[in-house]
Amino acid sequence: MFDKILIANRGEIALRVLRAAKELGIATVAVHSTADSDAMHVRLADESVCIGPPAARDSYLNVPALIAACEITGADAVHPGYGFLSENARFAEVLGHHGITFIGPKAEHIRIMGDKIEAKRTARRLGIPCVPGSEGGIQDDDEAQRVAAEIGFPVLVKAAAGGGGRGMKVARGPGDLADALATARAEALAAFGDGAVYLEKYLEKPRHIEIQVLGDGRGNAVHLGERDCSLQRRHQKVWEEGPSPALNETERAAIGETVSKAMQELGYLGAGTVEFLYEDGRFYFIEMNTRIQVEHPVTEMITGIDIVNEQIRLAAGLPLSVTQDEVALSGHAVECRINAEHPTTFKPSPGLITYFHPPGGLGVRVDSAAYQGYRIPPNYDSLVGKLIVHGRTRTECLMRLRRALDEFVVDGIETTLPLFRTLVRNADIHDGRYDIHWLESFLANEGPVPT
Ligand code: ADP
Repeated sequence: MFDKILIANRGEIALRVLRAAKELGIATVAVHSTADSDAMHVRLADESVCIGPPAARDSYLNVPALIAACEITGADAVHPGYGFLSENARFAEVLGHHGITFIGPKAEHIRIMGDKIEAKRTARRLGIPCVPGSEGGIQDDDEAQRVAAEIGFPVLVKAAAGGGGRGMKVARGPGDLADALATARAEALAAFGDGAVYLEKYLEKPRHIEIQVLGDGRGNAVHLGERDCSLQRRHQKVWEEGPSPALNETERAAIGETVSKAMQELGYLGAGTVEFLYEDGRFYFIEMNTRIQVEHPVTEMITGIDIVNEQIRLAAGLPLSVTQDEVALSGHAVECRINAEHPTTFKPSPGLITYFHPPGGLGVRVDSAAYQGYRIPPNYDSLVGKLIVHGRTRTECLMRLRRALDEFVVDGIETTLPLFRTLVRNADIHDGRYDIHWLESFLANEGPVPT
Protein backbone atom coordinates (compact mmCIF):
# COMPACT_ATOMS: atom_id res chain seq x y z
CA MET A 1 0.00 0.00 0.00
CA PHE A 2 1.04 3.62 -0.50
CA ASP A 3 2.67 5.66 2.27
CA LYS A 4 1.62 9.09 1.08
CA ILE A 5 -0.90 10.29 -1.50
CA LEU A 6 -0.75 13.69 -3.17
CA ILE A 7 -4.20 14.94 -4.16
CA ALA A 8 -3.93 16.88 -7.42
CA ASN A 9 -7.26 18.66 -7.02
CA ARG A 10 -9.29 21.06 -4.86
CA GLY A 11 -12.78 21.53 -3.45
CA GLU A 12 -15.11 18.77 -2.35
CA ILE A 13 -13.38 16.01 -4.34
CA ALA A 14 -10.00 16.77 -2.72
CA LEU A 15 -11.75 16.34 0.64
CA ARG A 16 -13.41 13.14 -0.53
CA VAL A 17 -10.03 11.59 -1.48
CA LEU A 18 -8.46 12.82 1.74
CA ARG A 19 -11.15 11.04 3.77
CA ALA A 20 -10.58 7.73 1.96
CA ALA A 21 -6.79 8.02 2.40
CA LYS A 22 -7.12 8.78 6.12
CA GLU A 23 -9.36 5.77 6.66
CA LEU A 24 -6.70 3.62 4.99
CA GLY A 25 -4.04 5.11 7.27
CA ILE A 26 -2.24 6.83 4.37
CA ALA A 27 -0.67 10.28 4.80
CA THR A 28 -1.99 13.06 2.54
CA VAL A 29 -0.52 16.02 0.68
CA ALA A 30 -2.76 18.85 -0.51
CA VAL A 31 -1.71 21.12 -3.34
CA HIS A 32 -3.22 24.53 -3.88
CA SER A 33 -3.05 27.71 -5.90
CA THR A 34 -2.54 31.09 -4.21
CA ALA A 35 -6.34 31.60 -4.44
CA ASP A 36 -6.93 28.49 -2.30
CA SER A 37 -4.54 29.02 0.65
CA ASP A 38 -7.39 28.85 3.19
CA ALA A 39 -9.35 26.09 1.45
CA MET A 40 -10.64 23.20 3.57
CA HIS A 41 -8.58 20.53 1.76
CA VAL A 42 -5.41 22.44 2.68
CA ARG A 43 -6.49 22.66 6.33
CA LEU A 44 -7.31 18.95 6.62
CA ALA A 45 -4.32 17.44 4.79
CA ASP A 46 -1.19 16.36 6.67
CA GLU A 47 0.98 18.59 4.46
CA SER A 48 0.37 21.15 1.73
CA VAL A 49 2.32 22.67 -1.13
CA CYS A 50 1.49 25.85 -3.05
CA ILE A 51 1.87 25.03 -6.75
CA GLY A 52 1.19 28.35 -8.45
CA PRO A 53 -1.05 31.34 -9.13
CA PRO A 54 -4.89 31.17 -9.38
CA ALA A 55 -5.20 30.31 -13.10
CA ALA A 56 -5.66 26.51 -13.32
CA ARG A 57 -3.16 26.18 -16.19
CA ASP A 58 -0.45 27.59 -13.89
CA SER A 59 -1.40 25.53 -10.82
CA TYR A 60 -3.76 22.53 -10.86
CA LEU A 61 -2.73 21.74 -14.47
CA ASN A 62 0.95 22.49 -13.92
CA VAL A 63 2.61 19.07 -14.30
CA PRO A 64 6.22 20.07 -13.43
CA ALA A 65 4.97 21.79 -10.24
CA LEU A 66 2.99 18.68 -9.28
CA ILE A 67 5.98 16.37 -9.86
CA ALA A 68 8.16 18.71 -7.80
CA ALA A 69 5.53 18.67 -5.01
CA CYS A 70 5.63 14.84 -5.02
CA GLU A 71 9.41 14.86 -4.81
CA ILE A 72 9.57 17.44 -2.03
CA THR A 73 7.01 15.60 0.10
CA GLY A 74 7.95 12.02 -0.84
CA ALA A 75 4.45 11.16 -2.10
CA ASP A 76 4.40 7.78 -3.84
CA ALA A 77 0.97 8.10 -5.50
CA VAL A 78 -1.24 10.83 -6.96
CA HIS A 79 -5.04 10.90 -6.96
CA PRO A 80 -6.25 13.29 -9.68
CA GLY A 81 -9.94 13.60 -8.61
CA TYR A 82 -12.15 14.64 -11.54
CA GLY A 83 -11.55 17.40 -14.11
CA PHE A 84 -8.05 18.96 -14.26
CA LEU A 85 -5.51 16.16 -15.06
CA SER A 86 -7.78 13.20 -14.28
CA GLU A 87 -8.14 12.09 -17.90
CA ASN A 88 -4.69 13.10 -19.11
CA ALA A 89 -2.85 9.94 -20.26
CA ARG A 90 0.43 11.83 -20.57
CA PHE A 91 0.27 12.89 -16.92
CA ALA A 92 -0.25 9.26 -15.87
CA GLU A 93 2.81 8.24 -17.94
CA VAL A 94 5.03 11.07 -16.66
CA LEU A 95 4.21 10.11 -13.06
CA GLY A 96 5.16 6.52 -13.94
CA HIS A 97 8.53 7.70 -15.26
CA HIS A 98 9.15 9.29 -11.87
CA GLY A 99 8.21 6.10 -10.01
CA ILE A 100 4.93 7.61 -8.75
CA THR A 101 1.63 5.68 -9.12
CA PHE A 102 -1.27 7.41 -10.86
CA ILE A 103 -4.45 6.37 -9.01
CA GLY A 104 -6.52 5.67 -12.08
CA PRO A 105 -6.71 3.47 -15.18
CA LYS A 106 -3.87 2.43 -17.48
CA ALA A 107 -2.69 5.28 -19.73
CA GLU A 108 -3.68 3.34 -22.88
CA HIS A 109 -7.30 3.09 -21.69
CA ILE A 110 -7.45 6.78 -20.75
CA ARG A 111 -6.18 7.58 -24.25
CA ILE A 112 -8.68 5.33 -26.07
CA MET A 113 -11.69 6.62 -24.12
CA GLY A 114 -10.51 10.25 -24.39
CA ASP A 115 -10.99 10.09 -28.16
CA LYS A 116 -14.70 9.51 -28.61
CA ILE A 117 -14.31 8.06 -32.10
CA GLU A 118 -11.79 5.53 -30.82
CA ALA A 119 -13.96 4.91 -27.74
CA LYS A 120 -17.00 4.04 -29.88
CA ARG A 121 -14.90 1.76 -32.07
CA THR A 122 -13.63 -0.04 -28.94
CA ALA A 123 -17.13 -0.23 -27.42
CA ARG A 124 -18.47 -1.82 -30.61
CA ARG A 125 -15.62 -4.34 -30.62
CA LEU A 126 -16.40 -5.25 -27.00
CA GLY A 127 -20.08 -5.86 -27.76
CA ILE A 128 -21.45 -2.67 -26.21
CA PRO A 129 -24.44 -1.25 -28.17
CA CYS A 130 -23.73 2.21 -29.70
CA VAL A 131 -25.77 5.12 -31.11
CA PRO A 132 -25.99 4.63 -34.91
CA GLY A 133 -23.59 7.03 -36.64
CA SER A 134 -20.44 7.46 -38.69
CA GLU A 135 -17.84 4.66 -38.45
CA GLY A 136 -15.09 7.16 -37.74
CA GLY A 137 -14.47 10.90 -38.18
CA ILE A 138 -16.29 12.97 -40.81
CA GLN A 139 -13.93 14.55 -43.35
CA ASP A 140 -16.19 16.78 -45.47
CA ASP A 141 -19.76 17.92 -46.17
CA ASP A 142 -20.38 15.24 -48.82
CA GLU A 143 -19.47 12.44 -46.44
CA ALA A 144 -21.64 14.02 -43.73
CA GLN A 145 -24.65 14.19 -46.09
CA ARG A 146 -24.15 10.58 -47.12
CA VAL A 147 -23.93 9.27 -43.51
CA ALA A 148 -26.85 11.47 -42.37
CA ALA A 149 -29.05 10.16 -45.19
CA GLU A 150 -28.18 6.61 -44.12
CA ILE A 151 -28.97 7.01 -40.41
CA GLY A 152 -31.79 9.53 -40.95
CA PHE A 153 -32.30 13.07 -39.61
CA PRO A 154 -32.11 14.59 -37.07
CA VAL A 155 -28.39 14.00 -36.55
CA LEU A 156 -25.92 15.28 -33.97
CA VAL A 157 -22.44 16.51 -34.89
CA LYS A 158 -20.09 15.74 -31.98
CA ALA A 159 -16.46 16.58 -31.22
CA ALA A 160 -14.06 13.61 -30.98
CA ALA A 161 -12.27 15.40 -28.11
CA GLY A 162 -15.62 16.51 -26.59
CA GLY A 163 -16.40 17.13 -22.95
CA GLY A 164 -18.81 19.28 -20.95
CA GLY A 165 -21.28 19.26 -23.83
CA ARG A 166 -19.10 21.50 -26.00
CA GLY A 167 -18.69 21.04 -29.76
CA MET A 168 -22.17 19.46 -30.14
CA LYS A 169 -24.66 20.64 -32.79
CA VAL A 170 -27.99 19.22 -34.01
CA ALA A 171 -28.93 19.21 -37.72
CA ARG A 172 -32.68 18.69 -38.26
CA GLY A 173 -32.41 18.29 -42.05
CA PRO A 174 -29.90 18.31 -44.96
CA GLY A 175 -30.10 22.14 -45.13
CA ASP A 176 -28.71 22.56 -41.56
CA LEU A 177 -25.87 20.07 -41.83
CA ALA A 178 -23.08 22.21 -43.31
CA ASP A 179 -23.66 24.89 -40.67
CA ALA A 180 -23.79 22.38 -37.81
CA LEU A 181 -20.50 20.84 -39.00
CA ALA A 182 -18.72 24.18 -39.30
CA THR A 183 -19.93 25.40 -35.86
CA ALA A 184 -19.13 22.12 -34.07
CA ARG A 185 -15.65 22.06 -35.69
CA ALA A 186 -14.90 25.65 -34.71
CA GLU A 187 -16.14 25.13 -31.14
CA ALA A 188 -14.12 21.92 -30.77
CA LEU A 189 -10.99 23.57 -32.13
CA ALA A 190 -11.35 26.50 -29.73
CA ALA A 191 -12.16 24.33 -26.68
CA PHE A 192 -9.90 21.31 -27.24
CA GLY A 193 -7.40 22.31 -29.95
CA ASP A 194 -8.78 19.45 -32.05
CA GLY A 195 -11.48 20.02 -34.67
CA ALA A 196 -12.23 16.34 -35.44
CA VAL A 197 -15.97 15.59 -35.44
CA TYR A 198 -18.27 12.62 -36.01
CA LEU A 199 -21.98 12.07 -36.60
CA GLU A 200 -24.58 10.36 -34.47
CA LYS A 201 -28.30 9.81 -34.75
CA TYR A 202 -29.94 12.48 -32.56
CA LEU A 203 -32.23 10.75 -30.05
CA GLU A 204 -35.34 12.85 -29.32
CA LYS A 205 -36.34 11.76 -25.80
CA PRO A 206 -33.67 9.54 -24.25
CA ARG A 207 -32.66 9.21 -20.63
CA HIS A 208 -28.99 9.37 -19.62
CA ILE A 209 -28.16 6.15 -17.76
CA GLU A 210 -24.62 5.23 -16.74
CA ILE A 211 -23.04 2.11 -15.28
CA GLN A 212 -20.37 2.31 -12.57
CA VAL A 213 -17.59 -0.26 -12.94
CA LEU A 214 -14.49 -1.36 -11.02
CA GLY A 215 -11.68 -3.45 -12.54
CA ASP A 216 -8.44 -4.91 -11.19
CA GLY A 217 -6.51 -4.54 -14.47
CA ARG A 218 -6.04 -8.32 -14.66
CA GLY A 219 -9.35 -9.31 -16.20
CA ASN A 220 -11.66 -9.14 -13.19
CA ALA A 221 -14.37 -6.48 -13.18
CA VAL A 222 -17.70 -5.85 -11.47
CA HIS A 223 -20.51 -3.35 -12.04
CA LEU A 224 -22.21 -1.43 -9.25
CA GLY A 225 -25.54 -0.75 -10.96
CA GLU A 226 -26.66 2.42 -12.69
CA ARG A 227 -27.23 6.11 -12.12
CA ASP A 228 -29.88 8.09 -13.96
CA CYS A 229 -28.49 11.52 -14.85
CA SER A 230 -31.21 12.68 -17.21
CA LEU A 231 -31.90 15.95 -15.39
CA GLN A 232 -29.44 18.19 -17.21
CA ARG A 233 -28.98 21.80 -18.22
CA ARG A 234 -26.77 22.53 -21.25
CA HIS A 235 -25.71 18.85 -21.22
CA GLN A 236 -24.48 19.28 -17.62
CA LYS A 237 -25.88 17.01 -14.92
CA VAL A 238 -27.90 18.71 -12.19
CA TRP A 239 -29.65 15.85 -10.28
CA GLU A 240 -28.55 12.22 -10.32
CA GLU A 241 -30.27 9.21 -8.86
CA GLY A 242 -30.01 5.47 -8.55
CA PRO A 243 -31.52 3.08 -9.32
CA SER A 244 -33.09 4.63 -12.43
CA PRO A 245 -36.89 4.90 -12.15
CA ALA A 246 -37.03 3.73 -15.79
CA LEU A 247 -35.31 0.32 -15.56
CA ASN A 248 -36.62 -3.06 -14.47
CA GLU A 249 -34.51 -5.80 -12.87
CA THR A 250 -34.00 -7.71 -16.13
CA GLU A 251 -32.78 -4.64 -18.05
CA ARG A 252 -30.51 -3.66 -15.13
CA ALA A 253 -28.89 -7.08 -14.93
CA ALA A 254 -28.46 -7.34 -18.71
CA ILE A 255 -26.74 -3.98 -19.28
CA GLY A 256 -24.63 -4.45 -16.15
CA GLU A 257 -23.42 -7.80 -17.40
CA THR A 258 -22.66 -6.46 -20.90
CA VAL A 259 -20.54 -3.70 -19.39
CA SER A 260 -18.67 -5.81 -16.83
CA LYS A 261 -17.86 -8.43 -19.49
CA ALA A 262 -16.48 -5.68 -21.76
CA MET A 263 -14.33 -4.31 -18.91
CA GLN A 264 -13.02 -7.81 -18.13
CA GLU A 265 -11.99 -8.23 -21.77
CA LEU A 266 -10.35 -4.79 -21.81
CA GLY A 267 -8.43 -5.54 -18.59
CA TYR A 268 -9.71 -2.25 -17.19
CA LEU A 269 -8.06 -0.97 -14.00
CA GLY A 270 -9.77 1.15 -11.34
CA ALA A 271 -13.11 2.96 -11.35
CA GLY A 272 -14.88 3.98 -14.53
CA THR A 273 -18.30 4.88 -15.86
CA VAL A 274 -19.83 3.71 -19.11
CA GLU A 275 -22.45 6.23 -20.24
CA PHE A 276 -25.53 5.40 -22.29
CA LEU A 277 -28.58 7.03 -23.72
CA TYR A 278 -31.67 4.89 -23.13
CA GLU A 279 -34.76 5.15 -25.30
CA ASP A 280 -37.67 2.77 -25.89
CA GLY A 281 -36.04 -0.05 -23.95
CA ARG A 282 -32.67 0.15 -25.74
CA PHE A 283 -29.24 1.29 -24.61
CA TYR A 284 -26.84 3.30 -26.80
CA PHE A 285 -23.22 3.89 -25.64
CA ILE A 286 -22.10 7.54 -25.79
CA GLU A 287 -18.82 7.62 -23.88
CA MET A 288 -16.72 6.24 -21.06
CA ASN A 289 -15.28 8.33 -18.23
CA THR A 290 -12.02 6.89 -16.91
CA ARG A 291 -12.11 8.61 -13.52
CA ILE A 292 -14.15 9.11 -10.36
CA GLN A 293 -17.31 11.07 -11.19
CA VAL A 294 -19.04 13.89 -9.33
CA GLU A 295 -22.11 11.68 -8.83
CA HIS A 296 -20.28 8.60 -7.44
CA PRO A 297 -21.85 9.02 -3.95
CA VAL A 298 -25.25 7.92 -5.36
CA THR A 299 -23.73 4.48 -5.98
CA GLU A 300 -21.91 4.46 -2.65
CA MET A 301 -25.19 5.09 -0.82
CA ILE A 302 -27.03 2.19 -2.48
CA THR A 303 -24.16 -0.32 -2.46
CA GLY A 304 -22.28 0.66 0.72
CA ILE A 305 -19.03 0.41 -1.29
CA ASP A 306 -16.46 3.21 -0.88
CA ILE A 307 -15.45 3.78 -4.52
CA VAL A 308 -12.46 6.01 -3.73
CA ASN A 309 -11.13 3.42 -1.27
CA GLU A 310 -11.46 0.84 -4.07
CA GLN A 311 -9.58 3.14 -6.48
CA ILE A 312 -6.68 3.42 -4.07
CA ARG A 313 -6.58 -0.32 -3.31
CA LEU A 314 -6.79 -1.27 -6.99
CA ALA A 315 -4.02 1.18 -7.96
CA ALA A 316 -1.85 -0.45 -5.29
CA GLY A 317 -2.38 -3.82 -7.01
CA LEU A 318 -4.83 -5.28 -4.47
CA PRO A 319 -7.79 -7.37 -5.68
CA LEU A 320 -11.41 -6.12 -5.90
CA SER A 321 -12.95 -6.18 -2.41
CA VAL A 322 -16.26 -7.62 -3.74
CA THR A 323 -17.42 -10.22 -6.24
CA GLN A 324 -20.42 -9.48 -8.45
CA ASP A 325 -22.61 -11.70 -6.26
CA GLU A 326 -21.68 -9.66 -3.21
CA VAL A 327 -22.80 -6.38 -4.80
CA ALA A 328 -26.31 -5.77 -3.47
CA LEU A 329 -28.35 -2.67 -4.27
CA SER A 330 -30.30 -1.37 -1.30
CA GLY A 331 -32.86 1.45 -1.38
CA HIS A 332 -32.67 4.64 -3.39
CA ALA A 333 -30.35 7.68 -3.49
CA VAL A 334 -30.52 11.14 -5.07
CA GLU A 335 -27.71 13.68 -5.43
CA CYS A 336 -28.28 17.42 -5.96
CA ARG A 337 -25.36 19.49 -7.24
CA ILE A 338 -25.53 22.76 -5.37
CA ASN A 339 -23.77 25.47 -7.34
CA ALA A 340 -22.85 29.05 -6.51
CA GLU A 341 -25.17 30.30 -9.23
CA HIS A 342 -28.43 32.21 -9.48
CA PRO A 343 -31.18 29.52 -9.40
CA THR A 344 -32.91 30.85 -12.55
CA THR A 345 -30.33 32.71 -14.63
CA PHE A 346 -27.44 30.40 -13.59
CA LYS A 347 -25.12 33.41 -13.44
CA PRO A 348 -22.07 32.48 -11.29
CA SER A 349 -22.16 33.91 -7.78
CA PRO A 350 -18.74 33.55 -6.13
CA GLY A 351 -18.02 35.42 -2.89
CA LEU A 352 -18.13 35.20 0.89
CA ILE A 353 -20.33 32.58 2.58
CA THR A 354 -21.63 34.49 5.61
CA TYR A 355 -23.63 31.57 7.06
CA PHE A 356 -23.43 27.85 6.30
CA HIS A 357 -25.71 25.28 7.85
CA PRO A 358 -25.75 21.86 6.14
CA PRO A 359 -28.60 19.44 6.88
CA GLY A 360 -28.12 16.20 8.82
CA GLY A 361 -30.03 13.20 10.11
CA LEU A 362 -30.57 9.65 8.92
CA GLY A 363 -29.66 9.01 5.29
CA VAL A 364 -28.29 12.52 4.66
CA ARG A 365 -24.76 13.13 3.34
CA VAL A 366 -23.19 16.46 2.38
CA ASP A 367 -19.93 16.41 0.41
CA SER A 368 -18.66 19.98 0.47
CA ALA A 369 -15.49 21.93 1.13
CA ALA A 370 -17.46 25.08 2.03
CA TYR A 371 -17.69 26.59 5.53
CA GLN A 372 -18.94 29.73 7.18
CA GLY A 373 -16.49 32.55 6.42
CA TYR A 374 -15.13 30.82 3.29
CA ARG A 375 -14.78 32.99 0.20
CA ILE A 376 -15.50 31.07 -3.03
CA PRO A 377 -12.87 32.22 -5.53
CA PRO A 378 -14.11 33.15 -9.03
CA ASN A 379 -11.40 31.08 -10.76
CA TYR A 380 -12.86 27.57 -10.67
CA ASP A 381 -16.12 25.70 -11.19
CA SER A 382 -19.13 26.78 -9.18
CA LEU A 383 -19.88 23.57 -7.23
CA VAL A 384 -20.45 24.52 -3.56
CA GLY A 385 -21.36 21.04 -2.46
CA LYS A 386 -23.41 17.93 -3.10
CA LEU A 387 -26.39 16.87 -1.06
CA ILE A 388 -26.90 13.11 -1.26
CA VAL A 389 -29.91 11.50 0.38
CA HIS A 390 -30.71 7.82 0.83
CA GLY A 391 -34.03 6.14 1.64
CA ARG A 392 -35.34 2.57 1.68
CA THR A 393 -37.63 3.42 -1.24
CA ARG A 394 -37.67 6.21 -3.83
CA THR A 395 -40.64 7.81 -2.05
CA GLU A 396 -38.86 7.80 1.31
CA CYS A 397 -35.75 9.22 -0.37
CA LEU A 398 -37.72 12.11 -1.91
CA MET A 399 -39.49 12.92 1.39
CA ARG A 400 -36.14 12.98 3.16
CA LEU A 401 -34.58 15.08 0.39
CA ARG A 402 -37.40 17.63 0.68
CA ARG A 403 -36.78 18.18 4.38
CA ALA A 404 -32.96 18.14 3.95
CA LEU A 405 -33.21 20.85 1.26
CA ASP A 406 -35.43 22.94 3.56
CA GLU A 407 -32.83 22.64 6.33
CA PHE A 408 -29.85 23.65 4.14
CA VAL A 409 -28.83 27.31 4.59
CA VAL A 410 -26.10 29.01 2.54
CA ASP A 411 -26.09 32.80 2.99
CA GLY A 412 -24.01 35.51 1.31
CA ILE A 413 -24.06 34.02 -2.17
CA GLU A 414 -26.76 32.83 -4.58
CA THR A 415 -27.10 29.05 -4.89
CA THR A 416 -29.20 26.58 -6.87
CA LEU A 417 -30.89 25.30 -3.65
CA PRO A 418 -34.25 26.96 -4.56
CA LEU A 419 -34.27 25.10 -7.88
CA PHE A 420 -33.98 21.75 -6.07
CA ARG A 421 -36.73 22.75 -3.59
CA THR A 422 -38.99 23.26 -6.60
CA LEU A 423 -37.91 20.06 -8.36
CA VAL A 424 -38.43 17.82 -5.32
CA ARG A 425 -42.08 18.97 -5.19
CA ASN A 426 -42.75 18.43 -8.92
CA ALA A 427 -45.21 15.74 -10.04
CA ASP A 428 -43.13 14.53 -13.02
CA ILE A 429 -40.08 14.12 -10.78
CA HIS A 430 -42.19 12.22 -8.26
CA ASP A 431 -43.38 9.87 -10.96
CA GLY A 432 -39.86 9.51 -12.41
CA ARG A 433 -41.22 10.77 -15.74
CA TYR A 434 -38.39 12.79 -17.27
CA ASP A 435 -35.89 12.62 -20.15
CA ILE A 436 -32.72 14.63 -20.94
CA HIS A 437 -34.77 17.59 -22.22
CA TRP A 438 -37.24 17.75 -19.32
CA LEU A 439 -35.31 20.24 -17.15
CA GLU A 440 -34.63 22.75 -19.93
CA SER A 441 -38.26 22.81 -21.03
CA PHE A 442 -39.37 23.06 -17.39
CA LEU A 443 -37.04 26.06 -16.91
CA ALA A 444 -38.27 27.66 -20.13
CA ASN A 445 -41.98 27.16 -19.33
CA GLU A 446 -42.28 27.61 -15.58
CA GLY A 447 -40.60 31.02 -15.29
CA PRO A 448 -38.38 31.99 -12.35
CA VAL A 449 -38.00 29.62 -9.44
CA PRO A 450 -39.27 31.25 -6.20
CA THR A 451 -36.26 32.06 -3.97
P1 ADP B 1 -19.75 15.33 -23.19
O1 ADP B 1 -18.49 14.51 -23.09
O2 ADP B 1 -19.52 16.65 -23.84
O3 ADP B 1 -20.46 15.43 -21.87
P2 ADP B 1 -21.57 13.19 -24.09
O4 ADP B 1 -21.32 12.37 -25.29
O5 ADP B 1 -21.32 12.53 -22.76
O6 ADP B 1 -20.70 14.54 -24.21
O7 ADP B 1 -23.04 13.75 -24.09
C1 ADP B 1 -23.49 14.68 -23.13
C2 ADP B 1 -24.99 14.81 -23.19
O8 ADP B 1 -25.40 15.25 -24.52
C3 ADP B 1 -25.76 13.50 -22.98
O9 ADP B 1 -25.96 13.20 -21.61
C4 ADP B 1 -27.05 13.83 -23.69
O10 ADP B 1 -27.85 14.70 -22.91
C5 ADP B 1 -26.59 14.63 -24.92
N1 ADP B 1 -26.35 13.73 -26.09
C6 ADP B 1 -25.18 13.14 -26.45
N2 ADP B 1 -25.31 12.36 -27.56
C7 ADP B 1 -26.62 12.47 -27.94
C8 ADP B 1 -27.42 11.89 -29.01
N3 ADP B 1 -26.91 11.07 -29.92
N4 ADP B 1 -28.74 12.22 -29.06
C9 ADP B 1 -29.29 13.06 -28.14
N5 ADP B 1 -28.60 13.63 -27.12
C10 ADP B 1 -27.29 13.35 -27.00
